[in-house]
Amino acid sequence: MPSDRATEAKPFERILYVAFDHLSRDHGVLKTANPATDLIVLVESARMTTGRNWHAERLFFLISSARHFAERLETEGFRVRYVKAPTTMDGLRQTQAEVGNLPIWAAEPSSFRQFAQLKEAGVNFIANDFFLTSRGDFALWAGSQKSFVMENFYRAQRIRLGIMVTAGQPDGGRWNYDSENRLPPPKNYSWPDYLEHDRDAIDVEVATELAMVPTKTWATTREGALRQLDNFIEHHLNGFGPYEDAVPADNWALHHSLLSPYLNNGLLHPSQVIQTVLTAYRERDLAIESVEAFVRQVIGWREYINGMYWFLGEDYRENNQLNANRKLLPVFQDSSQTKMNCVRSTVADIEERAWAHHIPRLMILSNLALVTGTNPQDFLNWMRERFIDASEWVMVPNVIGMGVHADGGRLMTKPYAAGGAYLSRMTQYCKGCHYDPKLRVGETACPFTTLYWDFLDRHKDDFAKNHRMAQQVHGLKRLSDLPELRLRALEVLSGLDQGLV
Ligand code: SF4
Repeated sequence: MPSDRATEAKPFERILYVAFDHLSRDHGVLKTANPATDLIVLVESARMTTGRNWHAERLFFLISSARHFAERLETEGFRVRYVKAPTTMDGLRQTQAEVGNLPIWAAEPSSFRQFAQLKEAGVNFIANDFFLTSRGDFALWAGSQKSFVMENFYRAQRIRLGIMVTAGQPDGGRWNYDSENRLPPPKNYSWPDYLEHDRDAIDVEVATELAMVPTKTWATTREGALRQLDNFIEHHLNGFGPYEDAVPADNWALHHSLLSPYLNNGLLHPSQVIQTVLTAYRERDLAIESVEAFVRQVIGWREYINGMYWFLGEDYRENNQLNANRKLLPVFQDSSQTKMNCVRSTVADIEERAWAHHIPRLMILSNLALVTGTNPQDFLNWMRERFIDASEWVMVPNVIGMGVHADGGRLMTKPYAAGGAYLSRMTQYCKGCHYDPKLRVGETACPFTTLYWDFLDRHKDDFAKNHRMAQQVHGLKRLSDLPELRLRALEVLSGLDQGLV
């Protein structure tokens, strides 16, 4: 573990605090660092490591990345302290007690809570530049909109950043290639091998402290993150788009980049990722629908979600406008607590490596929480704890707004509720399942199909004035078996509560 090597340098003038999601030499507070007079401090707080039921793979990734980063700064000649303390503030105060009551500087934190804590402690901030859009610029955009349509933000981003546009018009003549990019899982398709990351002494030290054995899925250094980026460009970018929404049974990553953990902890910056992708696009004959789909994720969705987190405010996280108060289902804690093949397989994937792509997150896990009426905050906390890339700013809008529609439609105008028909088209799980996606009543009815209709029935008054839901709610009138379906839904909900369905 790095230690202070202050001996031959000048006295410290500032403490630079680097959070575990700001691991960048070129962005955040370190771009202002002076090796001669600054002391760099990273704090591994007990609140962070033991405060919640964090996935061990996630803790391993965050801690090992931070320790590698601290070591790298020392190698570059910086004086670094890696402090273990009960809380971040304890670690910073402890440092001040040892080196003097020096001013503390940090990049603006990535969550409301840490921002408030550091502000109260008198920390000085420099603007958070870990995104392509400042919080102020996003607020200007959002404040001028009637509704917060991501597609509109994304097109404005393309023009503002000059990405794949000429004279204000999109390359290829279209902004959106979704119609090419929503294919179901392919049959007889050879997915490239997964990239593995070897473990070094720091990794072993962290894994031993956590009493766990990490997978080789996640890199813990910038070099490893860059290898992941190169691997994506080389083997996956060209095929990314068409299958980005597919959920095959024989591959967990498809052509997804697996870069979100590094973008979210600072090891990679979105500008570098996008420039590398655009260079490959210019130099090779890459499919525009794939490049556009990836660019959309990075300059569109990622920036939009971060912007909305700050724009919607701290209280947004507490929304529960559908009055959903069911306790978290046991299957979320243990994949064996269900016979639903899609849910069991997705939770098992997450148990193994703390990751699943956006469709299992949205259309399997969040859909399950939505149609069962699971408490949004319980589900949000579970998502925060279980995913490798689950920063607060990512998960709050994604879960509260998009996943379980707990915000009354502020972010998304309609809930992402789906029955077995969608899942049997986009996943390969239904064939091996105990349940039948086509049935909505009876012992073998797909719980998603039953609960989809039951959800619409329970909330038909809530959605009465939502014209985007009118067709779905109207569909209830065609159900001749609605009384039977309501009874089956009660059985399914009770069975899920007991881990038996
Ligand atoms: Fe999931 Fe229903 Fe398909 Fe089973 S039948 S895998 S529960 S969607």
